[in-house]
Amino acid sequence: MLKLKKRIATIGSHSALQILKGAQDEGFETICVCEKKRTAPYKMFPVADEIIEIDSFKNFLKVEKELIKRDAIVIPHGSFVEYLGPKKIQQLKVPHYGNKKILDWESDRVKQQEWLTQAKIKMPKIFEKPEEIDRPVIVKFHGARGGRGYFLANSTEEFYKKIAKHPDEKFTIQEYVVGVPIYVHYFYSRLTGELEIMGFDKRYESNADSIGRVAAADQITTNLQTSYTIVGNIPLVVRESLLPYFIKIGQRVIEESQKLEPPGLFGPFCLEGIVTSDLVLTVFEISARIVAGTNPYVAGSPYTFFKYNEPMSTGRRIARDIKMAIEQNRMDKVFN
Ligand code: AMP
Repeated sequence: MLKLKKRIATIGSHSALQILKGAQDEGFETICVCEKKRTAPYKMFPVADEIIEIDSFKNFLKVEKELIKRDAIVIPHGSFVEYLGPKKIQQLKVPHYGNKKILDWESDRVKQQEWLTQAKIKMPKIFEKPEEIDRPVIVKFHGARGGRGYFLANSTEEFYKKIAKHPDEKFTIQEYVVGVPIYVHYFYSRLTGELEIMGFDKRYESNADSIGRVAAADQITTNLQTSYTIVGNIPLVVRESLLPYFIKIGQRVIEESQKLEPPGLFGPFCLEGIVTSDLVLTVFEISARIVAGTNPYVAGSPYTFFKYNEPMSTGRRIARDIKMAIEQNRMDKVFN
């Protein structure tokens, strides 16, 4: 395969295996920037042509010059956004795939709500004050990645009892929506102007996903508390009759982002929510970058199989977008 001059780089965590493998499949050389203690998977699986070791992901900017010298393009993912934070990402000089400014909308709860509400996406009610709690709520800690520490409360009293164990945490109180969790993986390319559904997943969460193995009576006597710590991802297909709906809401999210933060959201994104029995998705979060739920589909998903006659992961789709931009001399369509 013809080797491309530019390299694809990301940090070693989250969906790096998928991103780097996809980039290799498209003809790019790859770089994994990795904390010394986390290199094992990137040595075991040969997806990185080069591994740059750093002491802490927080020091990512120290290797930025090195990446620029190697003509690298950085692909953001969940851990990348978490470790660098939206402020440092805005300051990056190394080319970064996607609309950096959209990450500000993703990481700010108020902005996220404005964006999704204007796109007519249903969201769970947010309780500004604990005294307003009038139904089951889920309490989420800011910056708590992977659902760690979340708890449920049914009343103001229960909330105060449980929050006492977390005196210094900032939190959001959200209506607890009863239904099935679904994560919708999309891809939007500014080169083709097309929205694609890449797949769906649900999370495998400890202990929420095994609480049904304990009888209700035992749950009460052992004072079992539900927790939502994400351990892995489970692939999923939806009823085909739901696809028009998921396509429509994905399009609305893109259109609204183009008004709010031109040139808008592009590349991979994910709507994360609960489908209730009336078949409506109540979205509790949007991720404006690749999500780890795409990892079961490194060799393609049932949906990408309809469109591509080759294994097409979201990581590979990103690399394809960049490759197309290079070939068509339209790099402004993948960076900004
Ligand atoms: P998150 O960190 O926001 O992705 O949430 C982690 C998990 O908590 C989700 O996968 C759901 O199982 C659960 N969850 C989050 N928000 C809600 C909600 N508003 N209603 C019901 N379950 C939720």
